[in-house]
Amino acid sequence: MVSFVGAGPGDVDLITIKGRKKIEAAEVVIYAGSLVAKEHMNFCKAGAEIYNSATMTLEEVIFVMKKANEENKNVVRLHTGDPSIYGAIKEQMDKLTELKIEFEVIPGVSSFTASAAAIKREFTLPGISQTVIITRMEGRTPVPAKESLELLAAHKASMSIFLSAQSIEAVVEKLKEGYEREDVPIAVVYKATWEDEKIVVGTLLDIVSKVKEAEIKNFAQILVGDFIDTNYERSKLYDPTFAHGFREASK
Ligand code: SAH
Repeated sequence: MVSFVGAGPGDVDLITIKGRKKIEAAEVVIYAGSLVAKEHMNFCKAGAEIYNSATMTLEEVIFVMKKANEENKNVVRLHTGDPSIYGAIKEQMDKLTELKIEFEVIPGVSSFTASAAAIKREFTLPGISQTVIITRMEGRTPVPAKESLELLAAHKASMSIFLSAQSIEAVVEKLKEGYEREDVPIAVVYKATWEDEKIVVGTLLDIVSKVKEAEIKNFAQILVGDFIDTNYERSKLYDPTFAHGFREASK
């Protein structure tokens, strides 16, 4: 059995209990060493085989999984955040299906929600935005043209931009074009939940210089939208005059 496990954003206590138990029971662990905290390995049993996938190809990863499966060993494939977001797990799952190797996926706390927590904000404020767009700038991996940042920003929704802090100037230009304003609030969160976490908050006008000053180049979330700094309507859910399935409206 291969378990794809979301390790969470960094802080080792932000993995799920189910994910932690899988690590404790694994004979083989393959972790994404560039972004997954090494402390997770402290929970492995003595003698567990540990592989860092940062230096491995897809074929090498699958080879390790196949061999372990033949030996009836439990395998944990540990991905950063939640594996369904920029995790490159589909190609691994497809190979395992081809090889008739059983697998499961255990979700994790993604860095985009961890970053919202770090800045203590809610993405979905009534009257401001009820939508979160998760995206990235094109880099060496292209992004479909219909998903270009300026087109997405034109929705004026809350946004979480992965994998793009190194291109902050270009990101900001596209956001200005899409939001059609320069005073849109923006936060850049470097290594959310790690000990060396850094938070930079500003607007599209000043964020580039602030990010440069903080020397943030990668490993960061870019959160954008009025949810970061605004007045908003209070939610209907906790409004005394609004009834719902669990509560009657007060008179
Ligand atoms: N599956 C992961 C994302 C992997 S892609 C998730 O759900 O979070 C790697 C990118 O995620 C990084 O370039 C960065 O943009 C973001 N990221 C991952 N961990 C982060 C963290 N702790 N703080 C800020 N951004 C992070």
